Amino acid sequence: MAGVIEAGRVAEPAREVPVAHVTDVLVVGGGIAGVMAAIASGRSGAPTLLVERFGSLGGTGTSAMMNLFYVPYAASRGLVRELLDRLIARGGAIPGEFVVYDPELYKITALEMLAEAQVKILLHTLVSDVVMEGKILRGIVVENKSGRQAILSRVTVDATGDADVAARAGAPYVKGREEDGKMRPMTLIFRMGGVDVRRLVEHVRTHLDDFSPDPLQCMLDLEHHMVRIFGFFKLVEEAKARGELWPDCYYFRVESVMPERGVLTVNATRVYGVDGTSAEDLSRAEIETRHQMIQLAAFARKYIPGFERSFILDSASTIGVRETRRVRGEYVMTEDDILAGRHYDDVVGVDANQQNPRQQGGHPPDGKEGGPQDAEARRLVARMFVYEIPYRCLVPAEVDGLLVAGRCLSVDHHADVYTRNQGTAMASGVAAGVAAALAARAGVPPRQVDVRAVQARLRDLGADLDLLRRLGPSPERLA
Ligand SMILES: Cc1cc2nc3c(=O)[nH]c(=O)nc-3n(C[C@H](O)[C@H](O)[C@H](O)COP(=O)(O)OP(=O)(O)OC[C@H]3O[C@@H](n4cnc5c(N)ncnc54)[C@H](O)[C@@H]3O)c2cc1C
Repeated sequence: MAGVIEAGRVAEPAREVPVAHVTDVLVVGGGIAGVMAAIASGRSGAPTLLVERFGSLGGTGTSAMMNLFYVPYAASRGLVRELLDRLIARGGAIPGEFVVYDPELYKITALEMLAEAQVKILLHTLVSDVVMEGKILRGIVVENKSGRQAILSRVTVDATGDADVAARAGAPYVKGREEDGKMRPMTLIFRMGGVDVRRLVEHVRTHLDDFSPDPLQCMLDLEHHMVRIFGFFKLVEEAKARGELWPDCYYFRVESVMPERGVLTVNATRVYGVDGTSAEDLSRAEIETRHQMIQLAAFARKYIPGFERSFILDSASTIGVRETRRVRGEYVMTEDDILAGRHYDDVVGVDANQQNPRQQGGHPPDGKEGGPQDAEARRLVARMFVYEIPYRCLVPAEVDGLLVAGRCLSVDHHADVYTRNQGTAMASGVAAGVAAALAARAGVPPRQVDVRAVQARLRDLGADLDLLRRLGPSPERLA
């Protein structure tokens, strides 16, 4: 019940909150990082609870309709490979340089793996506060249909993407780009049905100069059901000149396709200058991108061969947020570390993905993505980078009882181009889950956990911590 209103603020009276759950390991956020953390913790023997604000798991990878694991199948090992193989076995994923998946089959596969690991799941539950004892995180306060509840834990993994728990616990963090706080754009992904994909692919093949030259951005492999197209630059410019698209639109992009269904995922709406930790900005982005979606669908129907009879099948249930808070941990990994192939004694994960280094891509916050000045869209072919993730990037400074995994890892804005992908979210999730389970069992803060024991347990689970040593930082191939 709200109390006195004074100077634009409402004073809440102190109240007692019932403790609804007590657990050894609490994982907050059911995106790919949280799912992997909870499975790894459960499999390592810790009583584990996973809390998620939505009604299904997968986070950005399902609710925001981003259905592509940027992890090369050949480099995947351990729990990551197991998830991919389970999906592939039920017809829910296509392995390749990255792995395209069916979000519905991913949701159920995640639930099955969590159940096997004996992880408890609490859905429809938003974390709103933390329970602190000095600098030690003892648990969280949540809001859900049952009311306001407390959940206590020995160790908590913040896998909210936005570092919601870490920020409320007082851990230091940076939002967006270090020099000016600007963040990568947000995107509402939507799907179009009724597309004649063969006709579309034929058009792209005969107009290659209007598309990205990168074979990973323009994949036209109908035989393996992999189609990804980034371009239509001239068509977009012409439509803009007629006032049919918004001024900051420079391309049309479809990806993550299972083309035999005639369904394409469109990843082309963009809103800049918005903060995913502000409800007002999230609202603005949802509204603006919905107008953009209508313009893009009409543009595609009118001008792109193959889309003549297409329709908007559905749109994501939430806007896709690429960047918000990253905690400041015991170590802050930089792009220089990645490019140099830096090794760490406390390596707990290795990831590989294809990028254009040195600020030449990765959805920069400045706008004009895909425009004539955008080297990544117009000229460059990405290279593979293999990099280690040190345990210290999972351990926030100043707060105990807490680890982070996924998008809010302790890296800088330019390293985030690589690490914001689902591959690193998976690897850091597995590492955080194992470390949390071992710390809870040993009764020590995560900062003091025996990293050698974490590495040994990760190897037991099949993780490959030696990939960088074997292949070097920028191999031609991963096999
Ligand atoms: C448009 C777009 C396109 C992308 N394209 C690719 C791509 O092609 N390949 C790729 O690999 N990656 C891509 N990414 C990046 C990648 O999808 C994400 O960075 C990654 O999925 C993050 O995983 P996560 O588990 O850290 O966070 P999320 O997936 O964001 O999961 C966080 C979870 O925590 C929950 N949560 C948040 N706050 C709270 C709270 N307070 N209480 C309770 N629960 C909470 C959320 O509901 C969510 O389920 C893309 C991202 C976007 C937005």
